[in-house]
Amino acid sequence: MAEFIGIDLGGTKIRGVLTDPSGRVILAREVLTLASEGEEAIFSRIASITRELAHGAPGDGMRPEVQAIGICAPGPLDSAKGRILVTENLPFIDFPLGPRLQELLGLPVFLDNDGAAAAMGEYLHGAGRKADPLLYLTISTGIGAGAILGGKLFRGHSSNALEAGHMTLEPEGPTCACGNQGCAEVLASGTAISIAATAAAAAAREGSGPQTALSAWAQPGSREAFLAAAGGDRVAEAIVSEALRYLGICAANLATLFDPEVLIVGGGVTRAGPRVIEAIRAGVRERCPRVVAEGLRILPASLGDDSGALGAAALAAGALEVLGRSAHSASRNAG
Ligand SMILES: [Zn+2]
Repeated sequence: MAEFIGIDLGGTKIRGVLTDPSGRVILAREVLTLASEGEEAIFSRIASITRELAHGAPGDGMRPEVQAIGICAPGPLDSAKGRILVTENLPFIDFPLGPRLQELLGLPVFLDNDGAAAAMGEYLHGAGRKADPLLYLTISTGIGAGAILGGKLFRGHSSNALEAGHMTLEPEGPTCACGNQGCAEVLASGTAISIAATAAAAAAREGSGPQTALSAWAQPGSREAFLAAAGGDRVAEAIVSEALRYLGICAANLATLFDPEVLIVGGGVTRAGPRVIEAIRAGVRERCPRVVAEGLRILPASLGDDSGALGAAALAAGALEVLGRSAHSASRNAG
């Protein structure tokens, strides 16, 4: 039976799965991205995790069943050429990830946006099975999204649709790594929460800001901020509730545009607890047209850390089939 590899390249970790065509995970691997070490170091970690999955067991040769590799990464991307153009949370600049990996492993490689791949993963195998339109929103190091419309991934003209992290929420807001001001990512991502919490912790230590439980950490992340907020810390609560309010606005804007049947919410920040999805439900209830809000189911992602990797594997399987069909018809036409 054919097998496919799916790799989810994130700002914090690289997750990979080997699956059968039904999406059953045969093997899973994960390594830290360690983005600060630069693009070649990250590429060699992607290559080694992919090789491990392709070989199955150490010392074994490449599994002959493996047909293709799907990779998903934060955009913007040039999917057709397999290139990462530029990403805020990773050091890649116009990097030919697909061609490099294809050359190394001798298998076809397909590159897609991470939000798009996760949307496909949840549509095929997860919480949104067969829901259409399906919208996926992920909140982790960054913010991403994907949409399934009419059973197909909605890619947009340049294959970079639904870059929700760079939706403007505050025209005069803080500057995002993309250069614009007030993007969702700079207001509501895990990184945004961590930056605000770290600044508050430093201010408390220097005596220039109010005391906060956050000062127990040198660099509190979103997890610590949610923890401190849950413990009644006012400074942490203000940071968390502001980020969640913006997240609600971001989700409501997407839902207003797409009128989806299901909105799936995933990403590391959702692990902070039900507050995240509750804030999204509140944003949708308050801001979407009533008929849109009432018909919409908002659900946590059910594939956990695997939605992107499973979706990438499924997209690779689909892309390979399309290639096979066009090669078949080309050879028929030639004959
Ligand atoms: Zn931006």
